[in-house]
This record gives sequence, C-alpha cells and structure tokens, in this order.
Amino acid sequence: MNEYDTEKMLEVLRLENYALTESQAEADLIILNTCSIREKAENKVYSELGRLRKLKSANPNLKIGVGGCVAQQEGEAIIRRATNVDFVFGTDNLFELPKMLNKVQKGEKIIITKRHARQKVRNFIPDYTFQQTQRFGVKAHLAITKGCNNHCSFCVVPTTRGVEVSREPENIITEARRLISAGTREICLLGQNVNSYKANGVDFVELLQRLDKLENLKRLRFISPHPKDFHAELSDAFVNLPSLCEQMHLPLQSGSDRILRRMRRWYTMETFYEKVGLLRDRLPEATISTDLIVGFPGETEEEFEMTMEAVRKIRFDLIYSFKYSARPGTRAAEYPEHLTEDEKSRRHKILLETQEKIVLEKNLALVGSTQEVLIEGKHHRKNNTTTGRTRGYHPVAVKNSKTKAGDLLMVRITGALPNSLEADAISTSPVIN
Ligand code: SF4
Repeated sequence: MNEYDTEKMLEVLRLENYALTESQAEADLIILNTCSIREKAENKVYSELGRLRKLKSANPNLKIGVGGCVAQQEGEAIIRRATNVDFVFGTDNLFELPKMLNKVQKGEKIIITKRHARQKVRNFIPDYTFQQTQRFGVKAHLAITKGCNNHCSFCVVPTTRGVEVSREPENIITEARRLISAGTREICLLGQNVNSYKANGVDFVELLQRLDKLENLKRLRFISPHPKDFHAELSDAFVNLPSLCEQMHLPLQSGSDRILRRMRRWYTMETFYEKVGLLRDRLPEATISTDLIVGFPGETEEEFEMTMEAVRKIRFDLIYSFKYSARPGTRAAEYPEHLTEDEKSRRHKILLETQEKIVLEKNLALVGSTQEVLIEGKHHRKNNTTTGRTRGYHPVAVKNSKTKAGDLLMVRITGALPNSLEADAISTSPVIN
C-alpha cells in the first residue's frame, strides 16, 4: 500500500514540475513515506530524519516532509522531535501535496492528518492521467479499498488507515483502463482486507469479473485477502477468469487456535485448511503465500510447533514472517507474557530454515516445466538475460531472450535457486506483445 501511495505522490509531484533524483544531496524536496506496522520501521524514520539534518544544514532550501502511517499516528509530535521536518501529512492527504508545498515554500510548517469523508473515498479518482507521466511499468497496483474494520489485536492499521471504505467500481475500472492504455499488463488490486470489497451492490468476485473483461489486461492479482472472507465463489473465479493468476496470498499468522483467538483473527486451523483445500482442489498448481507472526505474547513452545506443523503440511510457496512487535494502542501490546527478543529470534530462525528447504524443493520440482512469464526488464547483473515472473509469482531469469518489458513469453524452466528460477525462452518471439 505504501508503494502505491509513493507512486501517487510521484505522479502529483511530477505535475508540479518536480523530477526524481537518485542523489539525496541534489534534492530540493525529500519525503519519507513511513510505515508503522513494526517498531523497527518506525524507529528507522527518526534515525533517517537525524541523518537528513546534515543535508538540511548544507542546503537550507531543502524541504523535508513525512507522510504515511507514522505521520498519521504521530502528527505534530514528529515536528517537535525532528525540527528539520517542514511538513507532516496523513494517509488520506497525499493529494494535498501541491497546496502544502506552496505554504512550505513560504516558510510555514504544515501538519495535515485529517481523514477524508467516506463519500469522498468512495468516489475518489485521481484527476490526472497516467499517460502524462509515463511512470508506470508493466505491473501496477490499484487500491480498491482503504482502511480496515477487523481490529486484529496486533495490528495498528485500523488506527492509521481508518475504517474500511470500498471505492466505487466505475472509478476502479476507469483507473484500470488508464493503466492499461499506459502499458500496464498486470494489475494487483490492493486492500487491507481486499476480498471484503463491496460497493454499489458489486462484491469482490463481481469486480474481478468486470476487470477480467478489460481488453489487454493480461494478469490480475490481489493482496491481501482475509481467510474469513475467502469462499467457494472466489476459488471458482481462479478457474473461470483467464486473467486471474493462479496465485493467492492467504495470511495465516499462527497455527494455534488459541493464539488465533487472541489475535482476533476469526478463523480456526480447521477452517484455514478448508480454505486452502478450496483452492487446491480446483487448481492443484496454484501457489499460496502467507504471513506468519512468531513469538506472539503468550505463545508457548507447543503453539509455535503448531505453526511449524501448518508450514510443513501446507507447504507455502512464500512466507512473509515477522517476530511479534508490540505496537502502541493495540490490544496485544497490553497482553501479559511477552517473549524475549532472543526467544522470538530463535523461533524465527527455525521457521526460516524450514521454509527455505520447502521453497527449494518446490522450485526444483518446477525444473523441466513450461511456464508463461511476463517480462519486467533486463537482468541487473547478467548480460543477454531478462527477468520476469510466472503466473505463480516465481521470479525467473530468462536466458538469451530478445524480449522486452511487457512481453508475455513461454519458457522452459532449466534451473532452480532458493529464491528464483532460471529458464530458456521456448521461442525467441513473444507469444503476445
Ligand atoms: S485484517 Fe490485516 S490490516 Fe486489518 S487489522 Fe487485521 S492484520 Fe491489520
């Protein structure tokens, strides 16, 4: 979501005649788009602001802004703690950047963290066209909901992003059409609880059906669905909609029912296995990724082992795993029995080592198979090689490929590494371009 917001900020700023620079020393404006999902990310913001102090002394014209979730949460406190900051803006306010910058250039300090009214979010559509800026590549994000109503006990998102609001389907389709005409081949729909989307009587599956019909949209993905809202109709969509890639992210968080209850996740392991089965029964080749938290307050060794059992049984293709990090204002931060950092690290290491082996085994099983790859660009180290992703979201290096970004290519997998695949193009000309 932050990447998506950053793209939007770049769009807005380009229209104000700003251009990106690779060097901080050359910049007239630096914006930190912040994340507060874990304590480490939040601390990084203040240490980065500390580092920027030198730049500001060297260039008094430099303006520094802080946006995103930390800005939403901390507001004015950021400017009190880091006096080199000129402006702070919340998660709803990035389109007000031109107005803010105008005032900042006159020497004012600005703090805007006001939430937009529900109706404004529902009707929201950027009032510029992507063609003007040509920033977008072959893959793009598209936010369809904002905020979350779930209040998982460990999560700060409902505080920083507000209640869940679904954008109107017509606005989403218009934005998708603009992306496609600017060259986007793959769209990933975004939402904190993306599959609970509902607006104007259109639910998530119907929205997917409408997007699937768009000409020249080759691939569709979404992130992150909540397991409680994953049902048979959605798993049918993976079979029925040609553009919907055979890949799903289904956040598990813990393999213990007691911990899931304490996390306020509203499913059990039994129902989670059922949901995985819904997809795998229809599409055995579908890849499934997940999020896991280790060392949640009160997690016993036995409960951690339940998570490990789920990892071994389900054999996820990719996991995003985190050591529990207490976030102020969340229920779990108040729970007793917090684990030590050493214990969390020990459990995390066990999880990572197990998962590494599973991924390598799964990657090796793909050697010899034929896959469709969407080429994203040149390999950054290897000559005469391009990189892209399969429909299952595996990163692939394609050797001797004369193709360019945006081509869809059939390849034969020739090698497997722990985190990626190698392939030869079956034909040097793309199947679709
Ligand atoms: S569903 Fe996701 S975003 Fe919403 S509260 Fe839970 S973890 Fe946070």
